[in-house]
Amino acid sequence: MPFITSAIAEKNQYDVIVVGSGAGGGQMAYALTMEGARVLMLEAGRKYDPVTETPMFQTPEQAPLREAGTSDKRFGFFDATVDGGWEVPGEPYVQTRADAAGRFDWWRARMLGGRTNHWARIALRNGPYDFKPYSRDGLGFDWPISYEEMAPYYDKVELLIGVYGTNDGLENTPDSSPGCLLPPPKPLVSDLLIAQRARKLGVPVIAGHRAVLTQQLNWKTSPARLHPGNPTAQKLIAADMQRRAACFWATPCGRGCSIRANYQSPTVHLPPALASGQLDILTDAMVHEVTLGKDGRARGVRFVDKRTAKQRDVTARAVVLAASACESVRILLNSKSAQFPNGLANSSGKLGKYLMDTVGSSLVGQIPLLESLPPHNEDGAGGGHMYSPWWLYKEQLTGKLGFARGYHIEFGGGRGMPSLGTAAGLEWLTGGSYGAKFKEDARRYYGSFVGFSGRGQMIPNEDSYCETDPVVQDQWGIPVLRFHWKWSAHETRQAAHMQKTFAEIIEAMGGRVRGHVETDGAKAIAPGGRIIHEVGGAIMGADPKKSVTNKWCQTWDVKNLFLADGAPFPSNADKNPTLTIMANAWRVADRILERMRRKEL
Ligand SMILES: Cc1cc2nc3c(=O)[nH]c(=O)nc-3n(C[C@H](O)[C@H](O)[C@H](O)COP(=O)(O)OP(=O)(O)OC[C@H]3O[C@@H](n4cnc5c(N)ncnc54)[C@H](O)[C@@H]3O)c2cc1C
Ligand code: SF4
Repeated sequence: MPFITSAIAEKNQYDVIVVGSGAGGGQMAYALTMEGARVLMLEAGRKYDPVTETPMFQTPEQAPLREAGTSDKRFGFFDATVDGGWEVPGEPYVQTRADAAGRFDWWRARMLGGRTNHWARIALRNGPYDFKPYSRDGLGFDWPISYEEMAPYYDKVELLIGVYGTNDGLENTPDSSPGCLLPPPKPLVSDLLIAQRARKLGVPVIAGHRAVLTQQLNWKTSPARLHPGNPTAQKLIAADMQRRAACFWATPCGRGCSIRANYQSPTVHLPPALASGQLDILTDAMVHEVTLGKDGRARGVRFVDKRTAKQRDVTARAVVLAASACESVRILLNSKSAQFPNGLANSSGKLGKYLMDTVGSSLVGQIPLLESLPPHNEDGAGGGHMYSPWWLYKEQLTGKLGFARGYHIEFGGGRGMPSLGTAAGLEWLTGGSYGAKFKEDARRYYGSFVGFSGRGQMIPNEDSYCETDPVVQDQWGIPVLRFHWKWSAHETRQAAHMQKTFAEIIEAMGGRVRGHVETDGAKAIAPGGRIIHEVGGAIMGADPKKSVTNKWCQTWDVKNLFLADGAPFPSNADKNPTLTIMANAWRVADRILERMRRKEL
């Protein structure tokens, strides 16, 4: 019985407890169970089945406010996130500053699969430089591992979840091994124009990398690459791959995908893990403490069963936290004991430190060349078909740019299904129009807008961290997190550079910028947390005095306690973090399995 109650979970014997069912937890549970480990997954949110619950085919007029976003449904009525958002009822957090420059906003999802039900599915590999940033420019921290150590796991994750893209041989934008990537979708008309004009400015434009199946996964050869020497696992995953359909280019991926064509933990990681018979899942289980045995090892975890509001305890040989970076840190900070008065695994004092998000800034342009195009279907793969990787590595290294780390550009345009606001705010172009003229204007300008979003690397700093608040508690009496945040000039200058670049591309397309180009980076940059790529807080390293975990994301202080989300990241490359969270989780899972086989755990 894979979905179980807390009474059963308390009775059963497990090899590993995994806390959280998102990208990190899903990948960890998959990798462990397929290789025979018995796993209990605890998830604070409710059970969620994308196959039956995804509102894929509803049209905007079927929703209140024609699906417009509201404060409790920020990404629109049909968005996949249930019980989540910037605010989660009964689960507050504290911001030490309210202004945009010093604020950290925290997005959470409380549901099986976490944020993977919604995420934009942009799945980029970190490059070799991204694992050794300190060695390159003397700022931030190196990872205690190299790209070469992570590369086999990137290959495996791509083969398993399905990622489209191309190998382009560009600097610090790694190629995948042969057969790992699926063919990308065709570019949209606006993509082609952006590519043509941006390339003239020296900005590369290549196929996007997204976790969407553009064709069926290779279920004949991939299983042996994923699970060499394990025919049981190969059979399970081959069968599951055949049950996933390819994308039919019609519906917004942010609502989820009931045909399992994009990656969500509950459609990709959890079904084969459950089919292995080795995974039990307990939802509505809010973990708040890692419990310790007399031997100093983790015994298990303590959680609130949200259905009964009662405290429960479960045990296992090893514990893996994958509750999302800040939430895993919170659990550790709240696991206080005489031995660990400042939080578990915090002998270095580094727990909660070096929190990072992605630098973000956006600009929209209107392009006369794209006006009044003949009607055609441009729905596409529910997200970007192309993007621009960072290109100014050499200029940056020689100090010409005034900021140390780069960004990539995500862009979008085209004629997706119109929704509330599609023809709103045209006055700056039309001077204001009504009736038949307004309809004419709406048709003319529909599809002529392009949006650019920069996604850049933030350097970890001493002023961006979280700690537990001494007063505020959530509805179960668990102390909540208090956030401190500061951008450095490296990030604000980078944001100003993004604005300048986007304006240049828009101009090169013969277009005009909507609004103004922000030259003040402090105003151009999105507040901390807003890009929802938060990582850090439990840094991995080679020195126990300066880090929370070793290179295996195993805490220095508690040998059978591991982390499998973004918390141990020593840096946050411009590349969106989730593919790296998954690759790293699989790497850590292999280490746990190896140590269990050697009876060291
Ligand atoms: C709008 C949006 C767009 C995004 N787009 C991209 C993108 O294109 N590319 C990219 O790389 N990333 C993207 N991300 C970020 C991506 O979703 C996260 O990096 C990723 O989901 C992190 O995985 P995780 O397992 O650490 O956390 P999550 O996916 O958040 O999963 C954590 C799980 O743990 C559970 N949990 C939390 N606390 C507890 C507790 N105390 N006890 C038990 N369970 C708990 C949560 O309920 C949740 O289910 C996006 C995110 C959002 C919201
Ligand atoms: S666009 Fe494709 S992958 Fe995205 S939800 Fe629709 S069918 Fe699924």
